[in-house]
Amino acid sequence: MFEKILIANRGEIALRVIQACKEMGIATVAVFSKADKDSLHVKMADEAVCIGAAPSINSYLHIPSIMSAAEICDVEAIHPGYGFLAENIHFAEICESCNIKFIGPTAENIKAMGDKAEARKIALNAGAPIVPGSEGPVDSKEEALKIAKKIKYPVVVKAVAGGGGRGIRVAHNDISLANAFFTAQSEAEIAFDNSQLYLEKYIEQPRHVEIQILGDEKKNIVHLGERDCTVQRRHQKLLEESPSPAIKSKLRKEMGHIAVKIARDIGYVNAGTIEFLLDKSGKFFFIEMNTRIQVEHPVTEMVTGIDLIKEQLRVAYGQELSFSQKDISFNGWAMECRINAEDSDNGFTPSPGKIIKYHPPGGPGIRVDSNIYAGGFVSPYYDSMIAKIIAHGKDRSEAISRMNRALEEYIIEGVKTTIPFHRKLINDPRFQSGRYATDFVEQILS
Ligand code: ADP
Repeated sequence: MFEKILIANRGEIALRVIQACKEMGIATVAVFSKADKDSLHVKMADEAVCIGAAPSINSYLHIPSIMSAAEICDVEAIHPGYGFLAENIHFAEICESCNIKFIGPTAENIKAMGDKAEARKIALNAGAPIVPGSEGPVDSKEEALKIAKKIKYPVVVKAVAGGGGRGIRVAHNDISLANAFFTAQSEAEIAFDNSQLYLEKYIEQPRHVEIQILGDEKKNIVHLGERDCTVQRRHQKLLEESPSPAIKSKLRKEMGHIAVKIARDIGYVNAGTIEFLLDKSGKFFFIEMNTRIQVEHPVTEMVTGIDLIKEQLRVAYGQELSFSQKDISFNGWAMECRINAEDSDNGFTPSPGKIIKYHPPGGPGIRVDSNIYAGGFVSPYYDSMIAKIIAHGKDRSEAISRMNRALEEYIIEGVKTTIPFHRKLINDPRFQSGRYATDFVEQILS
């Protein structure tokens, strides 16, 4: 196994990777910005290197500084976490050329799925149903209007390099499409340095169901079931669960089979997620593949008992998966609430600051992945997610009641959090019924 790796990330995911490494006897190097000098990932790693100023462009996205830290500390591999450089083809290539293993898919895998219009073609060739839409990128407003006429309104305009729900606009007629085209284009240019767009039919009241994939360098590929991420605000996930209350075993099998086929077709290695939308009639459509570990990976870990970060490390080292599809079984129900330092009563405005009091929940079936502590700071520079509560129970009802208890027990003082929102959410009869769609959060908030 690797003797020493560097984690090119911050926050809870940096800590999560460090924890997996500690259990496997792997030494760790943390990197941090000046704003993060007192962060837990810095304290918990064996070594830590400051890589620049607070803005991520000067630190967590600054490849020369990260590669220098890797060289100085003589690491064998880099775990990119999620976000930042996790899906950066250039970074994966540089690691490869420096003889440092990138703990994730190959640069070719990232390239294949990084362009979402191209990814649709790959999925289609693998036999996956895709959302009706443009065949590739749409270059002009006129072309977009033509395609919309063919696939019929409502349509959704999306960025080919998109992520995090940015660059997505819904249009109901020619006028709103013309506007959506320009706003999505400029948003995509700013967020992704790539203004290319594509078009899809807007699926009314869909559910978001995704399949976790794991592949090794010997071409073994398995899926670890689904996660339901239908609870979203502005196309960003807030709560995820596994299994999905919306699918039965036949559909689960079918989606798993297609997901494995897509991954196999591109020779996928390491952890990845194939995302689908489910329409009201229960038909599923491929939307994209995320070529990294995801925020919501713990719910899969809780129901399968498989540590995805350790598997990522093993596969990156060249080991074969130690289990096959038939060895994977699913136990009970898990759900995750993403706790953000935001004022959910006030438009979810960020609430950075000093943590005065801190007491995380515990007890049966509760896991908390977080990097905050009493006396620590929530920085205004980065994503506002400060913790993930994961509740596991024998069934959905027990998972919900454990989550309810954990949300009640959680004490975080000094910053506003989305805990009150989550309590309202999981106590809503519509959530408890399991029957809702991606517009559910808007309904609660209105
Ligand atoms: P991103 O990569 O930015 O997360 P996705 O393609 O994964 O973008 O879509 C994010 C969310 O946006 C989906 O989970 C869904 O709620 C919504 N969405 C995306 N495409 C469609 C569509 N064609 N119809 C309806 N909703 C969509």
